[in-house]
Amino acid sequence: MDSGPRRRPVQATVCSFARGLICVAGRVRNSAIHNKRDSLDLCVERPAKNYSPMTMGQHEPGVPLPFHKYCPYDGALLGCMTEHGHPRPICSQCGYIDYQNPRPAVAVIVCNDAHQLLLARRAAEPRKGHWDIPGGFMEAHESAEQAARREIAEETGLTISDLQYLGSLPDVYGPQGVPTINLCFLARVADQTPQASDDAAELAWFDCDRLPEEMAFAHQAIMLRWACGRLKRTEL
Ligand SMILES: [Zn+2]
Repeated sequence: MDSGPRRRPVQATVCSFARGLICVAGRVRNSAIHNKRDSLDLCVERPAKNYSPMTMGQHEPGVPLPFHKYCPYDGALLGCMTEHGHPRPICSQCGYIDYQNPRPAVAVIVCNDAHQLLLARRAAEPRKGHWDIPGGFMEAHESAEQAARREIAEETGLTISDLQYLGSLPDVYGPQGVPTINLCFLARVADQTPQASDDAAELAWFDCDRLPEEMAFAHQAIMLRWACGRLKRTEL
């Protein structure tokens, strides 16, 4: 019989985490882990518009963010706690906290001698058929620069050397709204012809004043403005 919500101090639970990877007792001493499913729903129902400072528009307010329901280590139903005002799904069995850290990705804006920018039309979902900045998710153990060179080689066959970091923007990816942090680089190629891989239906060069009206992801229009502004102001 359900005896109601069981509450245990986070201090005891988290510090008994068998893997010894985290101990946040000092910061969440006064919080409690709730084992009721309703408590996790408080995490899940957090409006997405408060999540992204960019208000990227790919989530409507009230649409659940992709918090996991179950602990990836032991399969227990996650509860919810609040830390510094942020709802955090937490496992009452092992203390795992699902921080929802964004997944890092690189976006590489390649330009040629005519200061045209190389874009790829997506061959697959999500956002199939939309123009995209070449790039992708970083692999474990590689730097952002290594990821940029690898993705460009894979998707376009180009070899890039010079990379200029332009900045980063948060967004979400795919139907589950996975949070991403997108690191943008500007690169230059000369005397190379790009070849589209399976990821791209088409590759094309665009002048800065004739860019596509809609890009695959909301943050990319901002990145293209960064690149065009940099090209106008400086030489690579
Ligand atoms: Zn667990």
